[in-house]
Amino acid sequence: MEFFENYSLKSSNSFGFEVSAEFCCSVTSLNELREALAFAESQNLDVLVLGGGSNLILVGDIAGLVILNRLSGIEVEADLSDAGKVRVTGAAGENWHEFVRHTIQYGAYGLENLSLIPGTVGAAPMQNIGAYGVEIKDRMVSLKALDRVTGKVCEFSTEACEFGYRDSVFKQRDAGRYIITEVCFLLSREINPVLDYAGLRDRFKAQGIAEPTALQISDLICEIRQSKLPDPLEIGNAGSFFKNPVVSIAKRQSILDSNPGLVSFPEGEGYKLAAGWLIDQLGWKGRRQGDAAVYDKQALVLVNHGAATGEDILRLARAIQDDVLNHFNVALEIEPRTFPE
Ligand code: FAD
Ligand code: NAP
Repeated sequence: MEFFENYSLKSSNSFGFEVSAEFCCSVTSLNELREALAFAESQNLDVLVLGGGSNLILVGDIAGLVILNRLSGIEVEADLSDAGKVRVTGAAGENWHEFVRHTIQYGAYGLENLSLIPGTVGAAPMQNIGAYGVEIKDRMVSLKALDRVTGKVCEFSTEACEFGYRDSVFKQRDAGRYIITEVCFLLSREINPVLDYAGLRDRFKAQGIAEPTALQISDLICEIRQSKLPDPLEIGNAGSFFKNPVVSIAKRQSILDSNPGLVSFPEGEGYKLAAGWLIDQLGWKGRRQGDAAVYDKQALVLVNHGAATGEDILRLARAIQDDVLNHFNVALEIEPRTFPE
């Protein structure tokens, strides 16, 4: 196994920032992962595990060892207690979208709404990835992770992951402690389409498709996403930069009174506001500060047009946060994590 020194992370982070890791290695097995951790311990190095690097803001060089998780393998087994269900387990380094397409090809349904989300299977539980009304907490049964404190592999039930909206125990209390090695999903033999999002429902209606297959749903979502979101290989980005804020009923009403077009949805005791709509209203869509910019087709996505740094993107993000706070009295929280912290 090779450890590279001063390794460029430009192609390992979807913003395409020019930063480097003091040391970097790829791991393809649990043994290699243990070997990498032993190397880090022997050299007294901090460790950062990366999958596809699509949910990060790298603001500078990373001291210590960056481990690129490339564990591979997909296992499918019948669920012994329910003939209509299938268990599909993906190793952490598997590409998420290819994993989703694999489940569909196998006739195991439930992940189709999560098509074309970049990154790896192992990072998906970190923020409970979600799109088009489905989150992985709705389909996951368990995951395995290497505990860096005990050195043992342990199993987490869905409940133990403490999933929330784009959140989990791995992003919060236990950040950095566990390295996820595999994730197991309980999927259905029969499709139960989730078509609550107007974008999906209306497109199928227009095409005269009343009962779409999982493949049709996946294909349509890929098409919509490709038309709205920048491809990180062409324009650096980390997807939605801000979480959608959840506010009280009273606060939503006060915003609605002066902004009748406000896009919002009931969420728990209050309402989720579409952060992209708030940002768009203030005229940020397409605005540029040097090479850091707000994407011109989707105000929730910040992009690197070439030579922007993580600091440039954060400066732009702070200006947007201030503007949204001043105008709507709503605090926007940044979704991707920043390294070095
Ligand atoms: P990375 O960016 O490599 O890592 C993210 C975090 O997880 C880091 O803190 C890292 O240390 C940690 N991590 C990674 N792997 C492991 C592991 N095996 N064990 C422990 N910790 C680990 N997200 C959504 O939820 N929904 C979307 O619809 C969506 N759309 C996107 C569209 C675009 C164009 C882009 C660029 C991003 C989008 N994202 C979306 C965000 C991102 O794709 C997801 O969060 C994805 O799960 C990140 O995976 P990754 O492998 O790239 O993680
Ligand atoms: P959209 O369909 O234009 O909807 C705008 C916002 O309204 C979304 O943020 C979504 O919230 C919310 N919304 C729409 N219909 C809803 C419904 N029926 N019930 C509840 N909430 C509803 O959004 P988009 O920007 O094109 O993205 C489509 C999906 O992909 C969304 O789910 C989005 O979260 C996901 N996505 C995520 C990222 C990321 O990096 N996290 C990047 C791109 C796309 P939610 O965001 O809570 O779903």
